[in-house]
Amino acid sequence: MDIAFYQSLKQSLPENVKLVAVSKTKPVEDIMTLYNLGQRVFGENKAQELQQKHEQLPKDIEWHFIGHLQTNKIKYIAPFVSMIHSIDSFNLLAEVNKFALKNGRIIPCLLQFHVAAEETKFGFNWEECEEMMQNPSFSSLQNVDIRGVMGMATLTDDTTQIRREFHQLHDYFNLLKNKYFADKKSFTEISCGMTDDYPIAIEEGSTMIRIGSAIFGKRNYQ
Ligand SMILES: *Cc1c(COP(=O)(O)O)cnc(C)c1O
Repeated sequence: MDIAFYQSLKQSLPENVKLVAVSKTKPVEDIMTLYNLGQRVFGENKAQELQQKHEQLPKDIEWHFIGHLQTNKIKYIAPFVSMIHSIDSFNLLAEVNKFALKNGRIIPCLLQFHVAAEETKFGFNWEECEEMMQNPSFSSLQNVDIRGVMGMATLTDDTTQIRREFHQLHDYFNLLKNKYFADKKSFTEISCGMTDDYPIAIEEGSTMIRIGSAIFGKRNYQ
């Protein structure tokens, strides 16, 4: 782990940018080390791994789900998850709503947009997202609370391209805000920026950076 990096990152972050410490594949001991330094927001990308860590760790941790979510896995995280960053279809949102209702909760969610060049990455394009927003059943989903957008940039050294993709994500945020969430004060979040690109993300308006390997060290698998 790189505690010095964590501490200097915390100090340098603008006040409106939240750090999600991405602990996927890392042991609970490492999470506790960061917890003892005051970190409370952690991100995971596998539902069962998240459920197990939630069971073993202090209950005041805010767990963010950041990976691709299959509908049959929602049940593992619905009772406690603080935010789901990766809503990429109406069907998924409706299923999250169902499990949130079952648990007597309202689950904060972000809409994931596909802004990268890689086809393997997930997320809405603008047309798909508008289709969802205009679906007559959308407003009946009372147990999900849409707080903003999320995106991942292309894995590349081309910083101009990365900046353009984060800018695109910010544009989607503005479009949604103006057209569908103008009256909603809590529609504020732009989740973007990882270990290799977070400084650009912050310049392009990120409000949540998701940092894993720079804090916890390299992972053996994704
Ligand atoms: C793994 C992961 C991260 C963190 O990546 P690092 O490059 O290790 O900082 C951020 N966001 C998502 C969606 C991830 O899956």
